[in-house]
Amino acid sequence: MTKATSSNVDPSEIKKFEDLASRWWDPESEFAPLHAINPLRTEYINLHSPVKGLKVLDVGCGGGLISEAMAAFGAQVTGIDMGEAPLSVAQLHLLESGLEVEYKKITAEELAAERPEHYDIVTCLEMLEHVPDPASVISACADMVKPGGDVYFSTINRNLKAWLLAIVGAEYVLNLLPRGTHEYEKLIKPAELSEYARNAGLELQRMIGLHYNPITQSYKLASGVDVNYMIHTQKAN
Ligand code: SAH
Repeated sequence: MTKATSSNVDPSEIKKFEDLASRWWDPESEFAPLHAINPLRTEYINLHSPVKGLKVLDVGCGGGLISEAMAAFGAQVTGIDMGEAPLSVAQLHLLESGLEVEYKKITAEELAAERPEHYDIVTCLEMLEHVPDPASVISACADMVKPGGDVYFSTINRNLKAWLLAIVGAEYVLNLLPRGTHEYEKLIKPAELSEYARNAGLELQRMIGLHYNPITQSYKLASGVDVNYMIHTQKAN
């Protein structure tokens, strides 16, 4: 077994983000789509799980867009990632924002062994489609949340429309993302994601789609989950 498989980290996936990390906070960079969806997804989370005063874990935090938003809402936040450069950028950006976040280079599975049932809310957004074994990350997230706590996952659906819009459209036509950012086989259907969550002891609360309009170059939340989508799950008490 290779090290990559045993630690559930794909070095080629980490490298994609290492190479771009210096531009993470530039809203006109390759990270423009993450900047565009950030208020929508973080406000949605804070609406259904008000985070103020709570312990939040952000898995696959990258440069810290979600971690900082959660800290700004008043949460006590830990952000974890396996990319060195994204974490350095995240750490540096705290100087600019004046916010406090604990950033750590560690896998979800390793942190789960150190901090079981430690967090009130866990977010794991746009990360599972870059991991060899997403079910293992989902189960680690379930282990780290307290009973009754909420866990949010987002990813991209796997079907013809998602391939056309999220890969061909975003990477080859509109050049929103670098080519090769997303690999079709690693995309995850809502039924698969819900099953992984259920198997980890997380009950599905709601599911929402994130829709991109290329004309207005903006995103909105809507009910269709054909392409980008997010789920809210809860651990039993
Ligand atoms: N969640 C952030 C960043 C998404 S980009 C956001 O939505 O704004 C995907 C991130 O997942 C990258 O920072 C990458 O380094 C990280 N990642 C990929 N595989 C990982 C793994 N196995 N463990 C931890 N982080 C990982």
